[in-house]
Amino acid sequence: MSEEIQANAPETSAPDAPQASSGPSSGPAPRSGGRPGGRPSSGGPGGRGKFFRRKKVCKFCTEKIDAIPYRDVRLLQGFVAERGKIVPRRLTGVCTTHQRRLTRAIKQARNIALLPFATRH
Ligand SMILES: [Zn+2]
Repeated sequence: MSEEIQANAPETSAPDAPQASSGPSSGPAPRSGGRPGGRPSSGGPGGRGKFFRRKKVCKFCTEKIDAIPYRDVRLLQGFVAERGKIVPRRLTGVCTTHQRRLTRAIKQARNIALLPFATRH
C-alpha cells in the first residue's frame, strides 16, 4: 500500500474575501494639473513713448552748433531726464559726436552746479 501524501491541500480559506471597508471618503485629491484660467490678458495700448519723439535728426547738426555751450542750461536740460540722467542718444536723436560733446557739456554744467547730478531717492 502506498499512501500518497497529499501535500498540496487546497486551502479553501483563500484571502479572497473582499473586505469592502475602504471608503472613498479620504478627502478630495488635489490635482496639480489645474491651470487657473489661462486667459491672455491683452493689456492696454502698448505705448512706451514716454519721451517726446521728434524727428530723429541731430539738433546740433541742423542748427550748426559745433561747440555745445555748457552754460546754456535750458538747452542742456532738454537732454537730461528729470532725475538728472543724461538721456541716451537713441531717444534724443543726437548724433554721436554731438552726444559726446553734449555729455561733456552736461558734466561741466554739473560741476559748476548748473545742472543737478543724478538725484537719488
Ligand atoms: Zn550732430
